[in-house]
This record gives sequence, C-alpha cells and structure tokens, in this order.
Amino acid sequence: MAMSDGTFGTHRPWLQPRASGLLTWLDSAGCRGLDTELFFPAGPKGPGRREADEAKAVCQTCPVRQQCASWALATAQEYGIWGGMDEEERVRARRRILPDAQESGPLGKKGIDSV
Ligand code: SF4
Repeated sequence: MAMSDGTFGTHRPWLQPRASGLLTWLDSAGCRGLDTELFFPAGPKGPGRREADEAKAVCQTCPVRQQCASWALATAQEYGIWGGMDEEERVRARRRILPDAQESGPLGKKGIDSV
C-alpha cells in the first residue's frame, strides 16, 4: 500500500525539513511517499522480515543513504529502517563507532563532537 501525497512526512511525520531548515537531504529521500509500514516492520521474522528487506532495498538505491544513516546514528533512532539499517544493525554500528554509547546517552561520553 503506497501513499501518494508526495510528502516525505508520509513515513517520518516528526521530521519537517522544510519547516526547520535542517535535514534538507530529506527532499531527495528514496522513501519519500512510500508506505510507513514498510520502514517500520512488525518484527524481525515472517512478514516483518520481508518488509525490512524491501525497505532496505529502497535504501540501497537512495541518493541520501549516507546522510540518513549518519543522522539515525547520531540521534539514536531506536525503531525502523534508516539508511539501510535496522535496529540491531544500528546498535552494532553505534558500538563500533561510539564504544561508550550505551553508557552515557545517544552520543556517548564524547558528545556531539565525536560524531
Ligand atoms: S536511506 Fe532509506 S530510510 Fe533513509 S532517506 Fe533513503 S530511502 Fe529513506
């Protein structure tokens, strides 16, 4: 089920890049206008797994994948597919990049300067 209102907010309604003047890369998002549920799969198995794989396939061809992944890691997004990564993949990436991230908040002990 694809939504077709043409806005990015379809599946990331809390992000309003035009209103904030930030996150302008979202204008080029490959997921723009696609179904919300695809990027927030029900679980890691069965239909949820298939949805996650479909979402990741969209991310693989997205022109702003790197920006999306960096943003998701820096803001510690807990749920959904961002930058081609699911929740577990982001946790592993954050541990690799910020070994102390689990101990002291989303950006680790070093704060924003470490990202
Ligand atoms: S990388 Fe994936 S989730 Fe991120 S903007 Fe692109 S298509 Fe959307």
